[in-house]
Amino acid sequence: MMEAKEACGVFGVYAPGRSVAHLTFDGLFALQHRGQESAGMAVCDGDAITVMKDMGLVTTVFDERKLSGLRGHLAIGHTRYSTAGTSDWMNAQPVFRGVGRAGFVLAHNGNLTNTDALARGAGMLPGLVDSDSDLVAELLGRAFPPDLPERPRTDHAGDLEAALLAVLPSVEGAFSFVLADADRLIGVRDPNGFRPLCLGHLPATAEAEAGWVLASESPALDVIGATFLRELEPGEMVVIDGAEVRSFHPFPAGRIDPTLCIFEFVYFARPDTILYGNEVHGARRRMGELLAGQEPVEADLVMGVPDSGVPAAEGYALGSGIPYGQGLVKNRYIGRTFIAPTQLERAQGVRRKLNPLRDNIAGKRLVVVDDSIVRGTTTRAMVIMLREAGAREVHLRVSSPPFRWPCFYGIDTPDEDELLASVKTIDEIVEFLDVDSLAYLTLDNLKTAIDAPGAGFCDACLTGHYPVPVPVELRAAGTRSPVVSGSPP
Ligand code: SF4
Repeated sequence: MMEAKEACGVFGVYAPGRSVAHLTFDGLFALQHRGQESAGMAVCDGDAITVMKDMGLVTTVFDERKLSGLRGHLAIGHTRYSTAGTSDWMNAQPVFRGVGRAGFVLAHNGNLTNTDALARGAGMLPGLVDSDSDLVAELLGRAFPPDLPERPRTDHAGDLEAALLAVLPSVEGAFSFVLADADRLIGVRDPNGFRPLCLGHLPATAEAEAGWVLASESPALDVIGATFLRELEPGEMVVIDGAEVRSFHPFPAGRIDPTLCIFEFVYFARPDTILYGNEVHGARRRMGELLAGQEPVEADLVMGVPDSGVPAAEGYALGSGIPYGQGLVKNRYIGRTFIAPTQLERAQGVRRKLNPLRDNIAGKRLVVVDDSIVRGTTTRAMVIMLREAGAREVHLRVSSPPFRWPCFYGIDTPDEDELLASVKTIDEIVEFLDVDSLAYLTLDNLKTAIDAPGAGFCDACLTGHYPVPVPVELRAAGTRSPVVSGSPP
């Protein structure tokens, strides 16, 4: 049961003649799983940029009355879970920067690794910016040309584009950005492509010309009737201000090193998302099938931990020939409200979230398939629940390798000394979780299941190989030095 949280979802749409605010609402709603602390959008009408954002879910922040007042031909949106900066209104996105008579907005998914160095290099005093996203907006604003009084607003046409081309090469870490000024939509993916970002097309209708969409995940395109075109390449920047998409590559070729987060496949992304050309659900099923071959066990029933463990459980049942069944029911209305700060509260939270199907479980030898174990607190509480419901044996199978290292690329993970697999051996974990057996999918089998030959992945939380160096201030909370790409763990 994944206890780490995704950092953010980003969305952008360029669609003259349509209600871009409603399209953005639908897109953000499809990306709600990527961030549930705050939601926001910025709508641009060629002259003004209007930003509306607040704490809460997309449906809490926006209603029909607010959406109908947001008019324009392009918009960007954001759902947030904080990894850098505090969880408050100030850090809700999109971030706005006014520059003279121009201005722009930025939405960010990821986490920069050189925030402090960038701020120091720009001579910023501590506290000037609230987050890494705010820092990038500040750097971009400073890179705009001076605003001369005689310069009309329309003369700012290429300013954001030029500022990005100047600033981006100095930015390091994980970032999928969606930006806009009054007239154009821009998407950027970092040279490693840590976080996903895809491009879609809205077909022309009798009332509206064709449009373009950018989104963290492809279901946000589906939901508004857009066609998936492609994933942005790592290190690519696209500019959309009309019928064409212009593509730029602002980063030096030596920095291009595709390492998409492997946990997007295991847990973070929606099952209907396309990543590296494959639907995520199929990859999760294959993880389960391979796990059945790799770690067989005699049992009566295979069950998945809802929701993300279910496809791998179906795969395990298929691969093992053991019947698949439902053993736990999830309260589908559970949300951020019940993500509790202490271990005890988290364990109690499991009872609010999951309830056993006693008739299916009692007297059975269970294979319980989960996507990952981070702290183990919730897994332990779940095993107690299954035993109380009468399970005869509990064999835990995990569809990813042990999660041993913290993430510095936009996923909120606990400190290393709270990561179960970092502080305990397999035998100790078996004892701690009170399971009859425990096995994890190997990294090779995980990559085989994803089925993207030649594709690169970040697997730093599983191996300690960090593809982009992590400065000492970022890893200060950790107890073991991370390994920079290429070194043995
Ligand atoms: S460290 Fe783990 S969670 Fe973070 S980007 Fe890499 S694979 Fe994803």
